[in-house]
Amino acid sequence: MSGRARDARASRFRRPGASPLSSDLPSGHRTGHGADPAARAEALRALIRRYDHEYYVLDAPTVPDAEYDRLFAELQALERDHPGLAAPDSPTARVGGAVAGGFAPVRHSRPMLSLNNAFDDDAVRGFDRRVRELLAESGLDPAQLRYSAELKYDGLAVGLRYERGRLVQAATRGDGAVGEDVTANIRTIRAIPLRLEGVGPEVLEVRGEVLMWSADFEALNARQREAGEKEFVNPRNAAAGSLRQLDPAVTARRPLRFFAYGVGEVRGAETPATHSGLLAWLESAGLPVGPERAVANDADGLLEFFRRIGERRAALPYQIDGVVYKVDRRDWHELLGYVARAPRFALAHKFPAEEAVTELLDIEVQVGRTGKLTPVARLAPVFVGGVTVTNATLHNEDEIERKGLMIGDRVVVRRAGDVIPEVVRALPREHGHEAAGRYRRFGMPHACPVCGSATEREEGEADRRCVAGLYCPAQRRQALLHFAQRRAMDIDGLGEKLVGQLVDGGLVSTPADLYRLDAATLAGLERMGEKSAANLVEAIDRSRRTTFARFLFALGIRHVGEEVARLLADAYPDVDALAGEDWDALAARKAAIQKENARRRARGEPPEPVPLEGVGPEIVDSVRRFFAEPHNREVVEALLAAGVGWEAPGGAAGEGAAAAGSHALAGKTFVLTGTLPSLTREQAAEMIRRHGGSVSGSVSKKTDYVVAGEAAGSKLDKAASLGVAVIDEAALRGMTGEK
Ligand code: NAD
Repeated sequence: MSGRARDARASRFRRPGASPLSSDLPSGHRTGHGADPAARAEALRALIRRYDHEYYVLDAPTVPDAEYDRLFAELQALERDHPGLAAPDSPTARVGGAVAGGFAPVRHSRPMLSLNNAFDDDAVRGFDRRVRELLAESGLDPAQLRYSAELKYDGLAVGLRYERGRLVQAATRGDGAVGEDVTANIRTIRAIPLRLEGVGPEVLEVRGEVLMWSADFEALNARQREAGEKEFVNPRNAAAGSLRQLDPAVTARRPLRFFAYGVGEVRGAETPATHSGLLAWLESAGLPVGPERAVANDADGLLEFFRRIGERRAALPYQIDGVVYKVDRRDWHELLGYVARAPRFALAHKFPAEEAVTELLDIEVQVGRTGKLTPVARLAPVFVGGVTVTNATLHNEDEIERKGLMIGDRVVVRRAGDVIPEVVRALPREHGHEAAGRYRRFGMPHACPVCGSATEREEGEADRRCVAGLYCPAQRRQALLHFAQRRAMDIDGLGEKLVGQLVDGGLVSTPADLYRLDAATLAGLERMGEKSAANLVEAIDRSRRTTFARFLFALGIRHVGEEVARLLADAYPDVDALAGEDWDALAARKAAIQKENARRRARGEPPEPVPLEGVGPEIVDSVRRFFAEPHNREVVEALLAAGVGWEAPGGAAGEGAAAAGSHALAGKTFVLTGTLPSLTREQAAEMIRRHGGSVSGSVSKKTDYVVAGEAAGSKLDKAASLGVAVIDEAALRGMTGEK
């Protein structure tokens, strides 16, 4: 921590219970709710003052701008409807901001004002109409009116005083009349010239915005996180917090930028007659000026600029919260004049807020097609980022924990660009008996909300899942597609569309139902002829004769891929044996053998085979869980009852003419490359495995043989360079003893 400003911020940032008034102001406008207007105005002022302090002094707001704007608009409306309530010290009559102790005060030669806001097209047209009326009232020709349009940079305003071309002083806006002297800090910003090009005028006060680019902001927050320091809420507050440092060395390390958009006092120079000309003039003096600007004739032209920029907003490297329109002729500025805190000749047209506050009504849990449970926030409808949002994914239970969310919380919802809406954080909770029972903790369900089966969260994983993959309606399609695929039960013709029809038509809910389908039922489906219906029934029937390994793979047990399914099928004669395994005893046996093998190795003796080598505890847990779920067992039994089966190992397997296995290739690793004369890659791999060997995808020092066929590629070169033996299909057959 360096400097008092930072210390103050740290100790005041979101102190628990430091929101005395928030309980008075739940979401929704209160005006007209029967509250006493004077009391309401006072409550709003107090709250706005507090938010101003957090925003302008501490650089650490606790509510989104949209929330602030909503309260501000409510107060403005109240003061308009009840003129007796207006007060000179009301936030509506002043420029927000303050001068923090620690900086010398600087009185601005001309006030630094705020801007009036427009949030919709009508307000922009109203602004244009008023400007034309005021011009006409002054006897000027509104037909000559032009506007200069530019971006509304989301940073903080500063005034830079150049005397004879040298930067002599820089000040923040402060309360508009008096700002803070931040000259030493401003001098560290490389985008700001210390000398202007050419001979500068006697006095030129440049006004513009100090800001931080989005990527720099992300990087800064990453550094803050690493250093265990507080992160900034957004680039605007990061820029403000970085500039308003009592130690300029800290500012120097922060990546700040600057765009000029106007002038204050000017002495000893002729300045251009238009605002657009002024911007070009500032640019030629070596000052950075935003490149996105235009001149427009009327409200339509302004709105077109607004829309064009809106489309490009997300692609800009810095944040803007709108665009600014200014009457182009500068001599008309003084004529049009000022209202309380803002000029009449300019307007800020704001984009829909990307953050808003709403209530977290509930958290619902959705089950995805692979069984993953996702908590989803149900929100009171809120307009944010240009759309009405009613729900947002919360990803998983850790995310909810990390954000400390409770049902009933008031939450900040963010939707930027096309990014899906996100619940950012909760606002501080209310206390006291009024709030009793308003908040509820959320826990992920231990029973699947779709099918009632058990849910599990594996160690080291963020997601909880429903374990009844074969049964759960949410997972039906996925389960059926997986079951039918070529490397599983190989049911030709059962693709995504058909599975969809079968499931939607209520014809099939688990894979076992497939075996009850007949051609007549299938022929009744859309786009299904009699011939294809008959073919499908035949393919389903054919799939009854399979291998145990394919069957296990087809069940879709998590972590049981083809290779693991093969290991399991080799180790167990049937489903009952596998499902009934005493996994704890097996683990103990495995550990004992591994220990013994270590001893044997030390003595130079050959090791004993380890049961289920290659099947780790994660897989074992998954298999155990799968068979512990009665719903899964039911489906497996129904499949077996439907006639799905396989030859016991040693016989002629469903694959065709597979020979009996042996241990001839035990401990040897093979790599296959090129096209073999009679075996496909898969068949060759199965043959190797049948005889105890293993197959790997790439050649390394651990490879024992490369089996090469026609058009073998780089694997052959690799084998040669490592001195690995290369054999052909005939040699492989010879080693296995298969013809
Ligand atoms: P403003 O930011 O809406 O508009 C005035 C400012 O716009 C100027 O001072 C200048 O800094 C800036 N600006 C950027 N580009 C400009 C350009 N091209 N030409 C002229 N000016 C340009 O008004 P404000 O009075 O500074 O602050 C009000 C804003 O701050 C509101 O959006 C409000 O939501 C937010 N705020 C939020 C909180 C909070 O707690 N979240 C508290 C206070 C204020």
